[in-house]
Amino acid sequence: MRKTEPRVPQAQVTLRAYQPAPARIELSYRPLPGRLARTLLALGVFWGAIPVVAWVPPHYPWVVASFVAGLYLAHRAWTGRYRVYSFAGICPRCARPISLGLDRAISLPHTLTCYHCHFEPRLEVRFEATQSGPAPLPQHRRPECVGLWEVRWLADDPFVICNRCHGAVPASRGARLVAETENDRAMLLARLAREGRRML
Ligand SMILES: [Zn+2]
Ligand SMILES: [Zn+2]
Repeated sequence: MRKTEPRVPQAQVTLRAYQPAPARIELSYRPLPGRLARTLLALGVFWGAIPVVAWVPPHYPWVVASFVAGLYLAHRAWTGRYRVYSFAGICPRCARPISLGLDRAISLPHTLTCYHCHFEPRLEVRFEATQSGPAPLPQHRRPECVGLWEVRWLADDPFVICNRCHGAVPASRGARLVAETENDRAMLLARLAREGRRML
């Protein structure tokens, strides 16, 4: 893959034993020569500084700090294959919003941290096929799911998301229409069930 314009691939947040939750990410690929150059630069600057800072009292801490900083930045420059411009996602476990933190150079799949439930779901991205044709319609991830559809914004894009199984599709007009119809039906069923119970 060559250096690309920022793009918005299909993304989702996964966690073992939970239904995947939607995410939206905007990123670009950082080509190998650039990463290599930054890696060498980090090592050159920080390790190259070691003979100099070793003269400054109290000597030893500066040497260790330069060594570690060089190693850390070099590792980050080398492994961060993607540059992230924006990210928004939902935790598969607690359905709260999840953020990427400050690190903007990542590799994929990337491990996220949910600060609400303290689990570590994984960000997965699929690059192939920015789909053409009709917009996908909302579909529960489990056929027996009785959740309601709601519209939630992930960064700049609205999604129709199930509040139980976290099934999600972009909130196109068609998707919103289907979601509203299903919600009406689900609420009607719930009311009938309540009234039926009262009558028994
Ligand atoms: Zn969570
Ligand atoms: Zn559902």
